[in-house]
Amino acid sequence: MNDQKDIRENCAVFGIRSSKDIFTDAYYGLYALQHRGQESAGIATYTNTNSDKGEINVHKDMGLVSEVFKGVYLEGNVGIGHVRYSTTGSSEIKNAQPLTINYAKGSFAMAHNGNILNADELKRILEGRGSIFATTTDTEIIAQLIAQEHMKTNDFIDGIKNAMEYLKGAYSLVILYDGKVIGVRDGWGFRPLVLGKKKDTYVISSESCALDTLDIKLVRDIKPSEIVVIGEKLESYTGKKHKISHCMFEYVYFSRPDSIMNEIPIYDVRKKMGEILARESPVSADLVIPVPDSGITASVGYSKESNIPYSEGLMKNRYVGRTFILPDQNQRERSVRVKLNPITSEIKDKKIVLIDDSIVRGTTLRRLIRILREGGVAKVHVRISCPPIRFPCMYGIDMQTHEEFIASKKSVEQIKNEIGADSLAYISLDGLIDAIGLPKEKLCLGCLTGDYPIKKAKQMKLG
Ligand code: AMP
Repeated sequence: MNDQKDIRENCAVFGIRSSKDIFTDAYYGLYALQHRGQESAGIATYTNTNSDKGEINVHKDMGLVSEVFKGVYLEGNVGIGHVRYSTTGSSEIKNAQPLTINYAKGSFAMAHNGNILNADELKRILEGRGSIFATTTDTEIIAQLIAQEHMKTNDFIDGIKNAMEYLKGAYSLVILYDGKVIGVRDGWGFRPLVLGKKKDTYVISSESCALDTLDIKLVRDIKPSEIVVIGEKLESYTGKKHKISHCMFEYVYFSRPDSIMNEIPIYDVRKKMGEILARESPVSADLVIPVPDSGITASVGYSKESNIPYSEGLMKNRYVGRTFILPDQNQRERSVRVKLNPITSEIKDKKIVLIDDSIVRGTTLRRLIRILREGGVAKVHVRISCPPIRFPCMYGIDMQTHEEFIASKKSVEQIKNEIGADSLAYISLDGLIDAIGLPKEKLCLGCLTGDYPIKKAKQMKLG
């Protein structure tokens, strides 16, 4: 999602329909998706009431899933959920999801993962047509657009299809409408969305790891441009198609390694990245050490390919959240030490290969290498399983401005010096693509190459 202060966020969405109450499953589903967002969480359920429209019940708040739903229970056998992750400035309860929209034809609840590029333009047009906005999120812009198109077409699915004609950007949606759960994935397929089933329970989730938690079988990915409707039966429709552009960073960092995305296990990709990195940038060393947790799987691959033993030279305090949650750079610097501590007996006088998945600002590695040297390490060779990140993400990953990327201003040699490593190497772009195993044309590599799948939109007119 994007708010008007130009802040981009990662999120996860979840939807479920069953013959029994779904609240507990939705809760555990969101719990499994917590890595995609720790700022706020919410669940909306639908209950049949005496009126023929039914009722949408929502509970959402700031905080982790376990905090937000303490002592809460929502009835209903159909529902959607959301976890949200953002940086400074947009931590507001009004922007938490699911969002409920009331309009002349009724109401629906919606949750969104992604970021819309033409949000401002759409908002102006919708306001001109009478929409009044209660939040600063682009999620509400999508919802109001769907509501207006529904009123025009008299059919909810046609309303979604029409909205998809106008939306430019990343959106994986779950919608709770009329006792049904609807999953929508944009035509580029930027963000993931999968479908699962067990007996009469259907689930839609950002990642398959949430299905495993609930013992639900992964059926398939929801296809780019697909609209899946889970009601009495399952229906599938096709909306606006675009050139497929799956986000490579989901494979590198964002998704959980036990998830399967676009039919590819994330774990296999990360391991292969490590193997390729070992072939591309070998080095003589005593130990391969991951930056926990982000470098673990690539380290397994690097160690296997290089025959250098894998070791846990750094211990992570798992009760501390992700570095990026802290709003300013000062706090981030300190948080590295709170989070990671070297095992000096293991690293002392050793030449190590230190592996992480990515460098953004360089803060983590700069601090870590200092700590490792204080612990007596002999040499630190850094290997990174993603090519240099140089350009902002417009499609929902929290990397917003050129200034924050160390690689947008500095060469590899300069970065090596700045973080204090003895050597530094990144996986090549071809190596990354090879590890993912999808054709280059089907990947969004915008943050690496600056070549974005969506070109600047022309002035738009809503029909
Ligand atoms: P930095 O310390 O700024 O160089 O950030 C790199 C570290 O943050 C690595 O350990 C990554 O695993 C992690 N990271 C990379 N991208 C993100 C992101 N969008 N949100 C949170 N953490 C990230």
